[in-house]
Amino acid sequence: MGDAEAFTRGFLPLFHAVPPVRLGVCRICHSGPNNRGNGKPWPTCASCKRTTQNLTGYTENVVPISLTTKETQLYDVLVREKTPYGVTGRRSRVDFLAATVTHFYQKHAGCLRGLAGGSFTIVATIPSTGAERPIQAFPLMDAVVGKVSALARLFRPLLLQADGEFAPVLAARKSHSNAFRVRGGELNGERVLLVNDLFVSGAHLQSAASALIAKGAQTVVALVVARLMNPASTDPYSAKIWQESCDRPFSFDRCCVCESACGRAA
Ligand SMILES: [Zn+2]
Ligand SMILES: [Zn+2]
Repeated sequence: MGDAEAFTRGFLPLFHAVPPVRLGVCRICHSGPNNRGNGKPWPTCASCKRTTQNLTGYTENVVPISLTTKETQLYDVLVREKTPYGVTGRRSRVDFLAATVTHFYQKHAGCLRGLAGGSFTIVATIPSTGAERPIQAFPLMDAVVGKVSALARLFRPLLLQADGEFAPVLAARKSHSNAFRVRGGELNGERVLLVNDLFVSGAHLQSAASALIAKGAQTVVALVVARLMNPASTDPYSAKIWQESCDRPFSFDRCCVCESACGRAA
């Protein structure tokens, strides 16, 4: 990837800032809904609670670059396969996403490594299961990671869909430890960066993390381009998170990890 900073400058309005963990913001996915019903928030959102409670292993470390709703251009690019359009014109989806991940990783590799407890030894992606879109012959995120030089050299196509019986499970936004298989031998001591495009409920991502951990991975940190929110939700915490994100300009200089570490924008 060439000058990712210059590339993404033309597309900043497509992104929405992700809040650091605090009361009312899910400690896993940095979003909502979190309302307990008595006015006090849960530490994890309803989705993360549901997708992690039955797994033998999952990751507590999910780092979204942006929030999104279904009404944004970012969602159109990720799910509806629309070509991104910025002040510099139209660019390919893969180039746009590669520039996004490259720029974010240039600024926040240290934040991600801090969560992993050391440098990453493997980069992996999650195979599409057709829940959000048709099964992809040429997976989008494999192509994206292939263009991010810092990640491409560590990329291994480790995860495979298990047989079809789990597709309906994932489609129903439920997680399962056996929904994915891991190719090859044990992953003892490996620190895996799992790169994904869209976090909806976390069912795919946490099932994938569970499979990697079962195979021996020491840590799994997930970097996702966007966390989907529902602004029409009646959950007061979700509504507040989205409103704040709309009120505040996005910057690649801060992320939901380093902002919480120093208590202010980096
Ligand atoms: Zn969550
Ligand atoms: Zn950071």
